[in-house]
Amino acid sequence: MDLGIRGRRAIVCASSKGLGLGCAQQLAREGVELVMLARGQEALEAAAAAIRAETGVKVTTVATDITTPEGRAKVLAICPNPDILVTNAGGPKPGDFRDWSRDDWIAAVDANMLTPIELIKATVDKMIARKFGRIVNITSASVKQPIESLGMSNGARAGLTGFVAGLARQIISHNVTINNLLPGPFATDRILQTAAARAKDSGQTVDEILNARMAAVPAKRFGTPAEFGQACAFLCSASAGFMTGQNLVLDGGIYPGTL
Ligand code: NAP
Repeated sequence: MDLGIRGRRAIVCASSKGLGLGCAQQLAREGVELVMLARGQEALEAAAAAIRAETGVKVTTVATDITTPEGRAKVLAICPNPDILVTNAGGPKPGDFRDWSRDDWIAAVDANMLTPIELIKATVDKMIARKFGRIVNITSASVKQPIESLGMSNGARAGLTGFVAGLARQIISHNVTINNLLPGPFATDRILQTAAARAKDSGQTVDEILNARMAAVPAKRFGTPAEFGQACAFLCSASAGFMTGQNLVLDGGIYPGTL
């Protein structure tokens, strides 16, 4: 299926590894020019080089922290008019809410709510003027089904979801859509980090925690970044212009609801 986005330009945030990288790879396979970013330069350059070698598309890298105003300014200076924006950043730390300070909360809200909103604000009017725009926010299945130890993720991402629900309806008449992708458990560094934190608290090994987590997924496995990237590319496709304000859960069947 031709997604009809060859030659489009995308900013893919937090994309040297994991889910962001899965999205960047798949968009590049569809012929989309990329701006990829992450804080660590080495992994970012390696990821970009592999994508260039595989697909031949133009890939520009920016080693920066997207949760800072300076980081966002750097990225937007390089790509002020993206056709596609995939927002993403590291998730908040797990733990007990009694241990979190106001500064912890502000960092979580900054990273997982205000950063995507600032990026949308900087790019959406130009998408409207061009009559094409696809915005995909990487959030979490915790928006739909809260995860006990990830209270800051549950809260901050719900704020983004509420904002996007309103804005999406205001801009779709210009062929600009905003949708959220809600990952359940995917095989990335992040799942290892959360398992390591849980192992420390529970006395179980990381492997025991991962195996138990996998056994609880109806699919009996974790998702892959490639599967995630394919869903992202579909939401960015020319033919997905009638779908907006949606929260697409990719969780191997964990969410138990009928709808
Ligand atoms: P990951 O494998 O750890 O990759 C995170 C990527 O984001 C890396 O490229 C990292 O590079 C970059 N990054 C992190 N913070 C950044 C920042 N402030 N500025 C720029 N780049 C940044 O994580 P993932 O599994 O792909 O997770 C992506 C998002 O999905 C996270 O918010 C996570 O909480 C959420 N999520 C993941 C899962 C899952 O099962 N994997 C489930 C639910 C939700 P640098 O460290 O070099 O910056």
